[in-house]
Amino acid sequence: MRILVVEDEETIADVIATKLRKEKYEVDTSFDGEDGLYNAMTNIYDLIILDIMLPKINGLEILKEIRENDISAKVIMLTAKSELEDKLKGFDTGADDYVTKPFHIEELIARVNVQLRSGNNKVKDILEYSDLTLNIRTSTLTCKLTNESINIPYREFLLLEYFINNKEQIISKEQIYDKVWGIDTDYESNNLEAYLSFLRKKIKIIGSKVNIKAVRNLGYKMEE
Ligand code: CA
Repeated sequence: MRILVVEDEETIADVIATKLRKEKYEVDTSFDGEDGLYNAMTNIYDLIILDIMLPKINGLEILKEIRENDISAKVIMLTAKSELEDKLKGFDTGADDYVTKPFHIEELIARVNVQLRSGNNKVKDILEYSDLTLNIRTSTLTCKLTNESINIPYREFLLLEYFINNKEQIISKEQIYDKVWGIDTDYESNNLEAYLSFLRKKIKIIGSKVNIKAVRNLGYKMEE
């Protein structure tokens, strides 16, 4: 899953991004409001961490703009203690949560996990589809029928996570590139077919019935 961090204090943004990457999220950063709004409008993010006090365009204006344009990303606002009023405005405008500065990084990560991987506010470590379970913490893919497991490398993990979250739906190549490689990707340089074939082999090796099928002219679909 892909996260945008909009925060003008670059050291804070970097700390957040590094920690989120360790949690296996794909992360982009923007250091001012203009760049943040531009990135947010691409609509490729599952979640946006949005500071309020930003140069050029402030976080509340960004939030208003993206909600008016039906960008559905979850939004966690970063607010200073004194900005209680901003916090309330943020909820009115469509923020999903807020974290008060200064914060512990673990606290922020927990809030992110709640928004993106939760059921009943409990962090979910396991993604499931059909006979497959994917452990997010360990990157282990297991087939429930055979009880065989295999470790999934980073890029294939992102692909697989995206397919499981959109199971039995057709996903276009462009969507996959945007989500798994990001907007600045040179399409030619990433061989999606190769990664998919690695992934299909691993799914097969552990004895699963699941397949990632190519759908002609449209993209790909994960199904049994
Ligand atoms: Ca700031």
